[in-house]
Amino acid sequence: RLGRYINRSVFLATQILPSVDNQHRKDFGPTVSPERLLLGPGPSNADPAVLKALSQPPIGHLDPFYVDLMSEVQELLRYAWQTSNRLTLPMSGTGSAAMEATLANVVEPEDTVLVAIKGYFGHRLADMAGRYKANVETIHKEWGNAFSLQEIEDALKKHTPAVLAIVHAETSTGVCQPMDGIGDLCRKYNCLLLVDTVTSLGGVPLYLDEWKIDLAYSCSQKGLSCPPGLGPFSMNERAENKMSNRKDKVPNWYLDVSLLNKYWGSDRVYHHTAPVNMNFGIREALRLLAEEGLEVSWGRHRTNAKSLWNSLENIGLELHVKEELRLPTLTTVKIPEGLDGKAFTKHLLNNFGVEIGGGLGDLAGKVWRIGLMGYNSTSENVDKIINIFETELP
Ligand code: PLP
Repeated sequence: RLGRYINRSVFLATQILPSVDNQHRKDFGPTVSPERLLLGPGPSNADPAVLKALSQPPIGHLDPFYVDLMSEVQELLRYAWQTSNRLTLPMSGTGSAAMEATLANVVEPEDTVLVAIKGYFGHRLADMAGRYKANVETIHKEWGNAFSLQEIEDALKKHTPAVLAIVHAETSTGVCQPMDGIGDLCRKYNCLLLVDTVTSLGGVPLYLDEWKIDLAYSCSQKGLSCPPGLGPFSMNERAENKMSNRKDKVPNWYLDVSLLNKYWGSDRVYHHTAPVNMNFGIREALRLLAEEGLEVSWGRHRTNAKSLWNSLENIGLELHVKEELRLPTLTTVKIPEGLDGKAFTKHLLNNFGVEIGGGLGDLAGKVWRIGLMGYNSTSENVDKIINIFETELP
């Protein structure tokens, strides 16, 4: 046997192979991440306990220990979202993968999908729905405002959609859409309610079942203080029924919940190799959230955001969104006239290691975006960013 191995090695060593091109073989040294305080639109800093969990040695994705851990992740996600939905799981991918999963699973060609757009991520929803061959209808609100119940009802009456899609926490504007009554309207007009909770999960009150939300998605890297890489997803029985009654297969193999549920449900059949370590990380993040308690976490985010808002106004800056619609996790601040906003954010990153965001889309060049999310929502971080603004703004 050993002889066979030696013969094979000799054969490989003497085989004539094309010479290896070494032009891309660079010696970059080990990977080292610089120290940053991430006070932008996300990702936020990961909790050190989450990083520790992430760095555990991987195990098999069908290992009984891992299978139990999957159920724990699902259960803790149900708590974070306040839902009893059976189909609640983290998609392998970022928030956009989970966004795509909500649409891919329930939208059939020619279904009308009504998207209520009041910022950048509403446009992304409309773009994706079109790719699944929906008849996409949109209603618009200026970037910095939210929809009224009347506006939503008028649009539902006019378009009679199969799905209404709306962003709860618009990261591009810093607006929190009031959700009261939208779910009831969707039941009245017989459509599914699909909600983006990427910047609200963990940091802002959110009640999937009570608000009659049929489909929701989120991300790992904001209010949960885990690195980017997983996209929590949830669908209720109404959405499941629409998925089960579709004429054709879900037009996306990777995100097909009926297939994924064979792995995440009781069968535990292989679908794709789960990002095991990411799930170690999100389990720890969700465990920490449950340990703190949702009401306490939501209260902490609100208290720190309010303190940020007061301090920013005290130093003469203006906020973009009126107080009753402001998101505790993300604040948009108007860039003072004549100031180069981009140069200022670059200055903060280069000289203080602090990241804040610039404006997106309609608000590009007009606002800064300051995030206080999850692990980063602390009074120390509020003091830090305010001190920097005070000393560095001209
Ligand atoms: N929806 C909202 C409201 C977001 O803020 C983001 C990202 O910031 C996304 C969707 C997309 O998530 P990801 O960038 O994780 O794919």
